[in-house]
Amino acid sequence: MTRNDELFDRARAVIPGGVNSPVRAFGSVGGTPRFYVSATGPYVTDAEGRDYVDLVASWGPALVGHAHPEVIDAVVDAARRGLSFGASTPAETELAVEIRRRVPIAEKIRLVSTGTEATMTAIRLARGATGRDLLVKFSGHYHGHSDGLLAQAGSGLATLALPGSAGVPAPIAAQTLVVPYNDRAALEAVFAEHGANIAAVITEAAGANMGVVPPAPGFTTFLRELTNRHGALLISDEVLTGFRSGPSGYWGVLREAGEDVAPDLLTFGKVVGGGLPVAALAGRAEIMDLLAPLGPVYQAGTLSGNPVAVAAGLATLRLADSDVYARISRAADTVSVAASAALDAAGVPHVVQRAGTLFSVFFGSAVVAGVPDYETATRQDAGAYAAFFHAMLEAGVSLPPSAFEAWFLTAAHDDVALGRILEALPGAARAAAA
Ligand code: PLP
Repeated sequence: MTRNDELFDRARAVIPGGVNSPVRAFGSVGGTPRFYVSATGPYVTDAEGRDYVDLVASWGPALVGHAHPEVIDAVVDAARRGLSFGASTPAETELAVEIRRRVPIAEKIRLVSTGTEATMTAIRLARGATGRDLLVKFSGHYHGHSDGLLAQAGSGLATLALPGSAGVPAPIAAQTLVVPYNDRAALEAVFAEHGANIAAVITEAAGANMGVVPPAPGFTTFLRELTNRHGALLISDEVLTGFRSGPSGYWGVLREAGEDVAPDLLTFGKVVGGGLPVAALAGRAEIMDLLAPLGPVYQAGTLSGNPVAVAAGLATLRLADSDVYARISRAADTVSVAASAALDAAGVPHVVQRAGTLFSVFFGSAVVAGVPDYETATRQDAGAYAAFFHAMLEAGVSLPPSAFEAWFLTAAHDDVALGRILEALPGAARAAAA
């Protein structure tokens, strides 16, 4: 029995499934999850003292690498001045200003602690603003675990092949209409039938919780036109893509591609907290000002805008200059091209999909023509991915333990770390072919 096995057994005795978030349990790839004790730059170290090149990056937040000295200094400095005040601090405003500098359509910003809270509040706000109840979401898009957003969601639900969650009352589930992503006709049909009662469409800015599935060219513009036509709001969930797929999130990526779409509300998380719990809800001032204390839509949090967490987020965003994004983009090119070449050489059918600096690899002949939606994503060969995953892990590279996730790079993935990934790929590709 290894140390990781022992720790997993001990955890399972007191924590459901031994984990505090389901995908961590290795359920879809099998085997024992690694228990980490530290992380620096592009590496994580497990309880057996083994280090791995990390392609999970805490599921996104570690944009500048783990434990960046400037981020740690900012956190220690903030912690010394007090862990939490339950009152306003100057740094919260600075973080909001930094978010708005990058995404000017985020006219006003409310800080919360998790992406789940941000999307949950965005929906309440959309309902409060429109006086309507229905919500449209896309299958395979994950927006956190609030009741109304679990219908046909991605991430852990996709990994575990769950249609939704037990414990969601039927009347709440009935307020969410689920349509296939990138499917204009399905959306038109839903709006033709329910248009007058739809408060909002919520979409991941680019799908990244069923593997990476970007919006088809023009699709986000279509969403804006359709929602405008029916008086519904458009909520762009950038919890994963925000300040990771590019300096201004996927909003900026689309803009550079010529699609200048202004959603009414946006949500951010992950990078915005640099590894500590900060997320944000943002958007048009006129809608955001409906939040308490100005307006009738309630939201609050004991730890909202927590000073230590805000210090981590602000330090991370201040480090995240164009050079950081250029490095991550180059690293994504290097790894995605090498993974594809290794899989080709081993005869493993696959397709690489990309959204800004984010990418993922789908395995199997059923997906080689491309993955536009969740239904297609579920046809990937999860068994081939599991074999690939374990061979990479054995070779010292930690990939997401699920075929339905993006591969996350950081600005700290230097030539040495990338070299270790490139060395591991051919063997893992052969394992996937077996
Ligand atoms: N929205 C998106 C697009 C996400 O990827 C996630 C988490 O992965 C969330 C919302 C929920 O964020 P959190 O896990 O911080 O609650």
